[in-house]
Amino acid sequence: MSAREQDLAANLAAVRDRIGAAEAAAGRTPGEVGLVVVTKFFPASDVRILAGLGVTEVGENRHQEAQAKAEECADLRASAGLRWHFIGGLQTNKAAAVARYADVVESVDRPELLSRLDRGAAERGRPLDVLLQVSLDGPGAAHRSGVAPEALADLAGQVAGHDHLRLGGLMAVAPLDTDPEEAFARLAEIRTGFLADHPAATRLSAGMSGDLEQAIRHGATHVRVGSAVLGSRPAVK
Ligand SMILES: *Cc1c(COP(=O)(O)O)cnc(C)c1O
Repeated sequence: MSAREQDLAANLAAVRDRIGAAEAAAGRTPGEVGLVVVTKFFPASDVRILAGLGVTEVGENRHQEAQAKAEECADLRASAGLRWHFIGGLQTNKAAAVARYADVVESVDRPELLSRLDRGAAERGRPLDVLLQVSLDGPGAAHRSGVAPEALADLAGQVAGHDHLRLGGLMAVAPLDTDPEEAFARLAEIRTGFLADHPAATRLSAGMSGDLEQAIRHGATHVRVGSAVLGSRPAVK
C-alpha cells in the first residue's frame, strides 16, 4: 500500500466509525446511511484508490473537473460500480453536459435546469436521479443556494413531466452562520411535507465532515464527506 492509500484507508475507516456511531445514537439501522466521498480538488488517482477501498459514490462540484475525472475513471463504473454525484451550483448552459456523465445531480434548484438535464440523460440513454437542493438560509441571506422551501412543491411537481429524470429526494447544506442542529431540524420538517406528496423520493443528502452527526440525527440517508477523508483542500483556485 502506498502512503496515500494508507492515509485514505485510515480516514475512511474513521469516517465510517463516525457514521456508525451516529446511526446507533439516533436509533437508526446500522449501515443504512450511505457515504458519498467528495473528491473535488483531488486527483483521479485518489478516486481510483477510494474505489479500491470500497467507495461506490463520489461527489464533485465543478463541471469541468468532474467531467475530466469521470472520463479518466470510466472503467471504474463497471469494475467497481462507481457512481458520480454532481453536488455543485449548476449553470443552466452546462446542465445537459453534466447529465451525460453524472448518475445523480443533487443540486437541482430551479425549473430551467429540468429540460436540459432531461435532454442530457436521454442522449446518454440512462435515466438520471435528481435531488432537489433546499435552501436553509434565512430570508435575508446574501447568497442563497437551493430552492426556497415555499417553491419546493412546485419544482418537485415539474420533475414528473420529464421522462428521463427520476425524483430521488432532497439535498441541503447547513448555512455557515447557523447551528447545524437547528438547520437540519428545519430540513426534517420540510422533508415531512415533501414526502407526503412524493413518498418514493426518500433520499436525504445532508451532512458533511463537520456536521454529519447532526444530519444523521435528523434523518439524512446520505452524507457527503470531503476533507475528513481526503484531507484539507488547497485554497480555492
Ligand atoms: C465540498 C462539499 C462537501 C464536503 O465538504 P467537507 O466539509 O469537506 O466534508 C459537501 N457538500 C457540498 C455541497 C460540498 O460542496
